[in-house]
Amino acid sequence: MPKELKSFDLTTKPKPAVPVRVDDTTLRDGEQTAGVVFANQEKIRIAKLLSEAGVHQIESGIPAMGGDEKETIKQIAALDLSASVLAWNRAVRADIQASIDCGVDAVAISLATSDIHIEHKLKKDRAWVIDSIKKSVAFAKKHDLYVSVNAEDASRTELDFLTEYAEAAKAEGADRLRFCDTIGVLDPFETYKVIKELKDRVDIDIEMHTHNDFGMATANALAGVKAGASWVNTTVNGLGERAGNAALEEVVMAMKVLGHTDLGLKTERFRDLCEYVAAASARTIPAWKAIVGTNVFAHESGIHADGVLKNPLTYESFSPEDVGLERQLVVGKHSGTHSIVMKFMEYGIELTDEEAQNILTEVRRLAVELKRALFDKELVYIYQDFRLKKEGLGQ
Ligand code: MN
Repeated sequence: MPKELKSFDLTTKPKPAVPVRVDDTTLRDGEQTAGVVFANQEKIRIAKLLSEAGVHQIESGIPAMGGDEKETIKQIAALDLSASVLAWNRAVRADIQASIDCGVDAVAISLATSDIHIEHKLKKDRAWVIDSIKKSVAFAKKHDLYVSVNAEDASRTELDFLTEYAEAAKAEGADRLRFCDTIGVLDPFETYKVIKELKDRVDIDIEMHTHNDFGMATANALAGVKAGASWVNTTVNGLGERAGNAALEEVVMAMKVLGHTDLGLKTERFRDLCEYVAAASARTIPAWKAIVGTNVFAHESGIHADGVLKNPLTYESFSPEDVGLERQLVVGKHSGTHSIVMKFMEYGIELTDEEAQNILTEVRRLAVELKRALFDKELVYIYQDFRLKKEGLGQ
């Protein structure tokens, strides 16, 4: 028997000094994905599922859009969820008033801070940005709201101006600064540097809003946390504009397994939650999707399957049950005899080594011919043919 393996030991890693909380924006940035629209009932269901999973804050949408959007946000706010309900706003008094009308307890007030956005999109200047954010934050705070101030395109903003923006917002009572890597151009090293510097300059909670254009959304969110950010803005399945946002399931499990920090979410609900959001957004979860893909705990290669059968920790860093998945042993071209023996044991058949070897030869031949793994039924047929041949009854 192999010695008992201790689970992945990362206790030596430094933990974040402050608790880290999740603000999920599946209902806002997730729905902003080109081609995605949630039905009202789906928005409400997603909000409930997120809250039940233990997400700390839910970004519920944009009240200023009016119509169904505003009505649904109102209904979500009235659910009395354990999660805080936040609504997204431009730095415009009418937007914030629409949020207040919905009964949410928190608002995100968004303004672009990079010169390229200020000059080319807003057609304003930095002084106007500072003045607008101050007025908007003051108005929201007067109504007793938790205020997150979003620095859109923060990753391309000159740090001195970003500092000035954060300080101006803080002076009006803002509770948090959302650092947005709006077009996803940071890497984890750069993220760490800029968040550390910003945190040294301004004493305000920082939230990471990261995009996946270079496949680094989750890594950048974690780098931000390591540098002192205390909030992470995520979406289920990483749904979001263009290449998407940092995925809730990835950030939370990476924090737990790699960062040794349990954010307190019910991670065993992740697969179900991801399936619901995938269906509501008319997308499928790729089999190889990190954390929740069906292949994450599927083992075919002989060496891997043999290892997992002896002790799952040989090829898995956490258990499938942790995220609501199941382990699968796939029998196909790369299988070894151990998998064949174990698979037949499930059917109550004990194979000799020689039988397992002969069946494996046939399994490999058939898998190549069919260009796929084999179904359980096909394995049984192989076994039946093999028995018939052995008893001299086959052709
Ligand atoms: Mn975004």
